[in-house]
Amino acid sequence: ATMPPLLCAIANAGRHGVLVKSAVVMERLGQVDAVALDKTGTLTEGTPRVTELRPLDGVTAEQLLALAAAAEHGSEHPLGRAVVAAARGRGLPLPPAEGFTATPGVGVRALVDGSVVAVGAPGPHRSRGPAAAPVAELEQAGRTAVVVLRDGEPAGVLGLADRPRGQAAAAVRALAVLTGRPPVLLTGDNPRAADRLAREVGLTDVRGGLLPHDKLAAVRDLAAGGHRVLMVGDGVNDAPALAAAHSGVAMGRAGADLALETADAVVVRDELAAVPAVVALSRRARRLVV
Ligand code: ADP
Ligand code: MG
Repeated sequence: ATMPPLLCAIANAGRHGVLVKSAVVMERLGQVDAVALDKTGTLTEGTPRVTELRPLDGVTAEQLLALAAAAEHGSEHPLGRAVVAAARGRGLPLPPAEGFTATPGVGVRALVDGSVVAVGAPGPHRSRGPAAAPVAELEQAGRTAVVVLRDGEPAGVLGLADRPRGQAAAAVRALAVLTGRPPVLLTGDNPRAADRLAREVGLTDVRGGLLPHDKLAAVRDLAAGGHRVLMVGDGVNDAPALAAAHSGVAMGRAGADLALETADAVVVRDELAAVPAVVALSRRARRLVV
């Protein structure tokens, strides 16, 4: 017997390094006419590095990094991994932490040496208090600024930077051609870092500072406008948007388990070019089916 076109397409997608979870998913991928892309880990390599340490009064740079790394120890977020790697790279002993919790799109919190240590998005500390100046300086430079709080008081700010994937600009162009409109960028990162990355990969519709439910709302808005949305993401914060999209695709290498489980397809080989490739494969298969 000859293989049905959609099953052939799934096999071909596998050759491109994409795990498509069903024939229905394979068919839907070709129907999309709008694309929403996450930033960190999707358009960027997802291996950010700590580039600046800005300790505040009474804290040394090494204490700041050790404190942040202790709190991030259980984190599966690229930023958390970067903080832990930076501390390890300097050979810093990490104080033990307990009671780790992560809030998608916001940050993490844990009990370190009897203090509650929180590491995450600046929030209200962007506009007031001792962290405001270093946050402004780092964000102006296009960094992701992360504030470290000890018992609610700012202990310092970390700057992090991630590189766009080599294939990001080409994949953005290919998706724009396939769907007839430029993709939109949805990110929890600050608008300045988002704008800088957007310029580098050729995107103009950029929404920064989004929480997971804001990403979901953006996908729903596109759908309400009559679009069939392809969402591409990698984080726990992307899961609601991945679930709501017509097709949800997760980046697999550094992707959070929840994102991989929620998505309809997973890019197993770490190449963004595979995303437009599977949309094109689906279209070709659909022409054979009908
Ligand atoms: P993106 O949408 O670009 O993938 P996220 O929504 O995952 O980004 O994160 C948004 C922001 O929340 C980050 O820029 C950071 O400020 C903060 N954040 C989230 N998780 C962490 C973490 N584990 N450590 C520090 N900051 C975090
Ligand atoms: Mg992400």
